Amino acid sequence: MPVTVQKFGGTSVADAYRIHLAARRAIRAKLAGKQVVLVVSAMGDTTDRLLDLAGRVTRHPSKREMDMLLSTGEQVSIALMAMAIHEAGHEAVSMTGAQVGLLTDSRHSEARIRSINAGRIRELLDQGRVVIVAGFQGVDENFNITTLGRGGSDTTAVALAAALGAAECELYTDVDGVYTADPRLVPAARKIDAISYDEMLELASLGAAVCHARSIEFGKKYGIPIHVRSSLTDNPGTMIMDNPPGMEDVVVRGATLKRDMGRITFVGLPNQPGVAAAIFDEIASREIVVDDIVQTVSEQGRSVNIACSIESRDLNEARAVGELIAQRFDSRAFEVQDDLARLSVVGIGMRSHSGVAAKMFRVLAAEKINIENISTSEIVISALVRQTDAERALQALHKAFELEREA
Ligand code: ADP
Ligand code: ASP
Ligand code: MG
Repeated sequence: MPVTVQKFGGTSVADAYRIHLAARRAIRAKLAGKQVVLVVSAMGDTTDRLLDLAGRVTRHPSKREMDMLLSTGEQVSIALMAMAIHEAGHEAVSMTGAQVGLLTDSRHSEARIRSINAGRIRELLDQGRVVIVAGFQGVDENFNITTLGRGGSDTTAVALAAALGAAECELYTDVDGVYTADPRLVPAARKIDAISYDEMLELASLGAAVCHARSIEFGKKYGIPIHVRSSLTDNPGTMIMDNPPGMEDVVVRGATLKRDMGRITFVGLPNQPGVAAAIFDEIASREIVVDDIVQTVSEQGRSVNIACSIESRDLNEARAVGELIAQRFDSRAFEVQDDLARLSVVGIGMRSHSGVAAKMFRVLAAEKINIENISTSEIVISALVRQTDAERALQALHKAFELEREA
């Protein structure tokens, strides 16, 4: 019997009514002859509320205890979802990450999935039950509960679809698909019918929170098409897949904004071998993720300046490490900025079209928005701008690249 995995995000299980709606959708799939696995997130803004609660108890929560706390949100949802399915006269069983053997590494709050025990779930499916799995959580080899990072239920769902050989994974959410930009920020944004894994991976990594980036990595690796769609309608949403039709014809597929970026800059470091290695070894050892790095040479080659952008949540730690390094190398100055945002345009068509970067910079110039840094890859052009300019910049780019028009 074919297996289908349906994931419901926080808004889609926010109250009893919506839990019943989601349950009904699962039952429909079962009655259509499928074995159904549901993955659910914590209800509504539960995860944010738990984070807030921890913040009232301590300013420095242990990462292990934080994962223990946050994982409770999903545990509430799975039990209620099972009850809703029972209420409709069908069999269902709820399972935590640990119970389905979702094994991760030990990086609390950003854990990566190592393996899943598909056998246990298959047994339950073969007994005719709907299996409801808690999203976002797993367990490490010492039975510590871990979480996969904000938005991680998407990754639970796609990883389960891969482990169970499902033909597709459906992500039910509060928008009716992936848009050319966050519709909350760009009212003119348009729904995309189909998008490649590569483009979606970049959009998700660069700020499109509609999918957890690692879920797209799983989808691509195991060839699982991902259908992002609304939990309130039956309309088709967005298919994330290999080679969608007309893929190369679209130069810019979408635009994103990643707020809460900062930057550290070392001014006047000695221009000699080993300096960059020492800095980035130190930064990496604290598990601080660096977005991009710029090195420039000054004073006729006698010194270098090194700047790197970092997410704001890591900035305090980066500041502490940076100050130590700056002292060690006798850097002339060490600067920290915390009011930046990354603006990006993404599209596979950029591989074969030139002029996208120039156009992006022209649009920002016309808006009198200063570019703090530029970085590019094969299918992305990004600029760091001030947070106060970011939303206006995103809207201007969306318009200039005519993203609201049907592709
Ligand atoms: P869920 O709880 O269902 O996982 P999320 O809040 O994680 O939902 O993701 C859905 C939200 O993602 C939307 O409400 C939307 O504001 C935001 N979003 C950001 N970028 C995009 C985009 N490009 N397309 C669609 N939604 C986006
Ligand atoms: N509940 C978690 C979060 O809010 C995971 C998820 O919703 O995907 O980030
Ligand atoms: Mg989400």
